[in-house]
Amino acid sequence: MPPDPASGAASRAAAALRIRAAVVMAFVTLPVAARAAAPTFSVDYVVAIRRGDPGHARVRWLLAGIDEVASFRLVFRDGRTTRVTGSGTLVWHDRTLLWTPGGPYAHLAYTVAIDRPRPPGAHFDSHADRDWVATRALHIFPEINVSFRPGTVRAKSRARLVFRLPRGWRVAAAAPRLADDTFAVEEPAKRLDRPRGWFLLGRIARHTRVIAGLPVTIAVAPGSALDPRRLLRLYVRTVPLLESILGPPPPRLLVVSAPDPMWHGGLSGEDSFFVNGRIPLRSPDKTSTYLHELFHVWQPFRPKGDGRWISEGLAEYYSLALQHRAGRLSDRSFDRGIRLFARYGRWGVDLSRTRHPAALNNSAPLIMWWIDREMRRVTGGRRTLDDAVRALASEHARLSTASFLRAVNRTADRDFTPLFRRHVYRGECPPLATISAAN
Ligand SMILES: [Zn+2]
Repeated sequence: MPPDPASGAASRAAAALRIRAAVVMAFVTLPVAARAAAPTFSVDYVVAIRRGDPGHARVRWLLAGIDEVASFRLVFRDGRTTRVTGSGTLVWHDRTLLWTPGGPYAHLAYTVAIDRPRPPGAHFDSHADRDWVATRALHIFPEINVSFRPGTVRAKSRARLVFRLPRGWRVAAAAPRLADDTFAVEEPAKRLDRPRGWFLLGRIARHTRVIAGLPVTIAVAPGSALDPRRLLRLYVRTVPLLESILGPPPPRLLVVSAPDPMWHGGLSGEDSFFVNGRIPLRSPDKTSTYLHELFHVWQPFRPKGDGRWISEGLAEYYSLALQHRAGRLSDRSFDRGIRLFARYGRWGVDLSRTRHPAALNNSAPLIMWWIDREMRRVTGGRRTLDDAVRALASEHARLSTASFLRAVNRTADRDFTPLFRRHVYRGECPPLATISAAN
């Protein structure tokens, strides 16, 4: 990515922005005092796809009123971005761009190749086909860090994400829709709002329904085998159950379904996730990728390094247990799911340290089932794993093996350290003879 000098288009863009900014200001309805206390600057992130070249997104940022911004440090994660130009000065250090816009009106433009391989096999976690694009903000935008001038008032951005697409294309994004192809970009804790989550563009189908207060959009690319109505029916039964464990839902949920050559699995993002359209609502092992990823999107705790087994174990265990509780999985099928965790787990490894998929996807959920069972046993059925997870969710803390053990101990009023030592740190499989549908 060689640095390019600012182009002559800068002044034209700035002039256009000044006009647009004036129009926007005319519609501001905040009281004068509030406006003075909370000044804003505007950012439009414009993503354009051309019909003849759907494999590349032309991205432009148009900024207005950024007097308080000193500079941006943009970290491009891989080599897919080219033709970077902008107003002000651009200085590169490897893949990091220090951009000093140098004025209150500024623009940045670049081209990004949408395809991003994700081995094994010829699969992608961001892909452009002839008539659809499945990607996420992470793969279209660099990591964005902004430095404000010292001593400035705390201006906050008013940001929009605008798609310019071929005729007949539609867009689904995990953000509030302002107009057909325009979304509000909101990151409440930050002064600069940055785009987040998954996008599906193209000749797509969108199905929307509000379930227990959660607005759900299922976006389906051509060639996907997902039946959105069946998925919505699954969520109608399970979202209220999950709410009773994890608390208030995210502001919205976008499910992106696209076919091969997209990645053969699920990938969660902010308020959204992707699942390959070939994956059924219920996998042969009785779990559900659609509930697993929903759990991740919803979980109000972020795992530390040694907490990964907990978030994976809970997501996979509840993807089985929620179907059972919702009456969509028989006792026998639930038992079978538990036995399959035992059979396909990787045992004798420290769950708090391992990255082995079989340990995270099978051993960890079985240990969750076992913890649940033991909590019920020692409390005479008064306390369950749900109560421990509820406590974790209300703490909004970073999730570690220690914090999880504390939550279990507090909830059950019993010391679970010996159980953790045996089944988490030494990775022993719980005795299978005791398995029965007791969730
Ligand atoms: Zn997961």
